[in-house]
Amino acid sequence: MQRVFFFGNGKAEGEGLGKEKLGGKGAGLAEMTALGIPVPPGFTIETGVCAEFTQNGKVPGLEEEVDQTLQRLEKAAGRSFGDPRNPLLVSVRSGARSSMPGMMDTILNLGLTSKTIGGLAALSGERFALDCRRRFLQMYGDVVLGVHKEEFEEALSALRQKRGVTSDADLKAEDLAEVVRRHEAIIQKHTGKDFPDEPREQLWGAIGAVFRSWDNERAKTYRKLHRIPNDWGTAVNVQTMVFGNRGETSATGVAFTRDPATGERRFYGEFLPNAQGEDVVAGIRTPRPLNADGSGASLEETMPEAYRELLRVRDLLEKRFHDMQDIEFTIDDGKLYLLQTRNGKRTGFAAVRVATEMVAEGLISKDEAISRVEPEQLVQLLAPIFPADEKQAAIASGRLLGKGLPAGPGAACGRIAFTAQRAVAMAGQGDPVVLVRVETSPEDIAGMNASAGILTTRGGMTSHAAVVARGMGKTCVVGAGEITVDYGKGELRARGRTEREGNWISVDGTSGEVISGKLPTRPSEVLQVFVEENLRLDQSQIARSFSELLSWADSRRRLGIRANADTPTDARVARVFGAQGIGLCRTEHMFFEESRILAVREMILAEDAAGRRAALAKILPMQREDFVGIFREMGERPVTIRLLDPPLHEFLPNDEAVLEKTARELKVSVEKLRERVQALHEANPMLGHRGCRLGLTHPEIYETQVRAIFEAAAAAIQSGGKPHPEIMIPLVGTRAEFEKLKVLVDETARKVTAESRQPVSYTVGTMIEIPRAALRAGEIAQKADFFSFGTNDLTQMTFGYSRDDAGSFLPAYIESGILPEDPFASLDTSGVGELVSIATQRGRQTNPRLKVGVCGEHGGDPRSIAFFHGAGLDYVSCSPFRVPVARLAAAQAAMSEGKEGVSSTA
Ligand code: PEP
Ligand code: MG
Repeated sequence: MQRVFFFGNGKAEGEGLGKEKLGGKGAGLAEMTALGIPVPPGFTIETGVCAEFTQNGKVPGLEEEVDQTLQRLEKAAGRSFGDPRNPLLVSVRSGARSSMPGMMDTILNLGLTSKTIGGLAALSGERFALDCRRRFLQMYGDVVLGVHKEEFEEALSALRQKRGVTSDADLKAEDLAEVVRRHEAIIQKHTGKDFPDEPREQLWGAIGAVFRSWDNERAKTYRKLHRIPNDWGTAVNVQTMVFGNRGETSATGVAFTRDPATGERRFYGEFLPNAQGEDVVAGIRTPRPLNADGSGASLEETMPEAYRELLRVRDLLEKRFHDMQDIEFTIDDGKLYLLQTRNGKRTGFAAVRVATEMVAEGLISKDEAISRVEPEQLVQLLAPIFPADEKQAAIASGRLLGKGLPAGPGAACGRIAFTAQRAVAMAGQGDPVVLVRVETSPEDIAGMNASAGILTTRGGMTSHAAVVARGMGKTCVVGAGEITVDYGKGELRARGRTEREGNWISVDGTSGEVISGKLPTRPSEVLQVFVEENLRLDQSQIARSFSELLSWADSRRRLGIRANADTPTDARVARVFGAQGIGLCRTEHMFFEESRILAVREMILAEDAAGRRAALAKILPMQREDFVGIFREMGERPVTIRLLDPPLHEFLPNDEAVLEKTARELKVSVEKLRERVQALHEANPMLGHRGCRLGLTHPEIYETQVRAIFEAAAAAIQSGGKPHPEIMIPLVGTRAEFEKLKVLVDETARKVTAESRQPVSYTVGTMIEIPRAALRAGEIAQKADFFSFGTNDLTQMTFGYSRDDAGSFLPAYIESGILPEDPFASLDTSGVGELVSIATQRGRQTNPRLKVGVCGEHGGDPRSIAFFHGAGLDYVSCSPFRVPVARLAAAQAAMSEGKEGVSSTA
């Protein structure tokens, strides 16, 4: 079985074998060679021998195979290993299936020995030969022999100092000879041996180091983070050296076949004349552009022939790989060589644009375009951003305050407010505000809404702040534990800085960074086109690509996509992003509005049902208006409205000043109000008097809400609409709970219809968020029209983890591998998922017409969506800003199943 694959002179033994066998780099070299692209000849040792080699230190027969291939290489290169007159020098590089920073990277100039250095000097000059030797000793010493690279660097900089020069380029041949002697001495001191002076010994040292680097700590950590299997192994690439540092007719550079930031179809890259690859990466010299920019320094202007050849290569590569490529090249005395090609990493913007434009260019199919874009990347297209250079400069100047979880992508910059009330007041004065809290609660909604960004120091990805911020499309960072908030002093402290209310702060919800002071932001074009409508579609390339890609996705998915939306504004955003209905309208969010919280509190303070009814009568018209607005926005699309869910105490003030103010407004004594707050206090409110339990003990609350819904629906019909309300009962655990409340809904509907003489078609269903309800789904479904999995609560109750407090141990669980990831962010498919499957099956068994969806946060998570697709759900519902993500993820789920997706009507 062949394990070593030669490439050179237009022929590649590994052509078509792919990354699995040859690693990404090896496969790219083989394909480029076969395409007739100039690639220095070499060979690849396949990934499959990595494990055996690291375990036993050798692989039987491999040495002979390498020897034979080496002879072919010598022939192709016209040079021999160890030849004192015309020595073959090679590079040795690692290359796994997917690029893996953390593994050994590169050794250059291998083959340089005391016997061959003279030959190289005769060919290319003494200084050049010594510089090659110096680099070789450094790289080999570091990665093969384990000598700290700082020691080499110190030796080099000591000599620079002694000579009074700042750049290595100013060192003369005799200086470099001195450096070489010092490097050799360092190696001798560390290893107790002379530096290996025999090319084959050097080669096997390097091959062994590459294989072993697969198992170094950095590589292992990287694999764990990126779910790369440990048994893949790395390949080893041995390739003839070419030199970009042989003078002004030589150069080295990197390029992307399209712009990796925007996706624009233009050649993009940079180069350094008279340099080796590491010089570009090291960032010591400023690279120059490839394309002519009028400076006269570009590759196009200084080496037009090589540039033209590079353009030809670019076309060949895109035609062969059907994707944007990231390439490395070297120009050796005027002649271009390609050293690497791989699919280029890109931003969400570039991913979308490249995918759609490649369809238009006939390079890929629509299905390929759909599968090319990571659904999560779409979020970037909706979020405002900080320009990268400005942010880096701020961080470099020490303004970073800390890092938390990136809960709501985007960039926000505003004045610090430490309470929701102050946020509202300060926002009213004109400047944007960032609300900074230890954590948020429903009371803070108005403040959150008024803020440009939200920062909490506690809490995880489904904490209140994270969920609400994502729903609002707000920039949000949660759990920034390094930052201490001191409400008493009205300040935050972090990294030796203190920030007070009113100070400017910048929050990057895409990276989690929190920066002191002001940074400029740019709004997203996609938002300007679709939501703000102040930019036309024909003015925005990215908005066109975005909507094109999503329309293709729609034709491939089976799952319906709905949105969680509580207001007409949210509903509109959901609709323009393509939601086919509302899967969850949380009515309690309407209760918190400034204008109605007082009536809600009056209701809670009432002594009896009659008192509650009187207060509810004030809420009814307001709630009706909300529904009228939502029905108007959603037209004929279904709207699932959940009756009140949270425990009542959440609506009462918990801060002394607000308590006093509320008592005054309600004309009751502070004592009475405090008494009621205490009476409603619960040890664990999430398991307490909430959801349908509230509806059953205080039926007038649900009656009022249902009345508001049906009056609104009747009004909508009278003005020509066709509303489809779906009434949803939260937190059901038993059939009796659901049955009783369904009767309440039906009776109230009948009453309103009798009054309005306007029949309304509606359905009544339940959330499945309690494990018992999932298990007893068969009997609940007999009376229910639909199920909607509230996977936030279902996860909480299945694991027994509180949604609000799990942040104190979940990170440790994930870190130590007890849990693979946060189950509140991505569904625990084996546990919670099993309950979803069981409930779906049992529910459909007794009620084949049962419609089944999900409205927990998982409805917007691509991996969870794949699971829901497989479990046969009818739709997923997520926050409006995640609707595009869900559309794409649902299409990918359908495609990966290999089935034709049929677009559903949700
Ligand atoms: C849920 O529990 O998944 C849900 C959608 O309801 P909430 O998050 O409002 O509790
Ligand atoms: Mg819930």
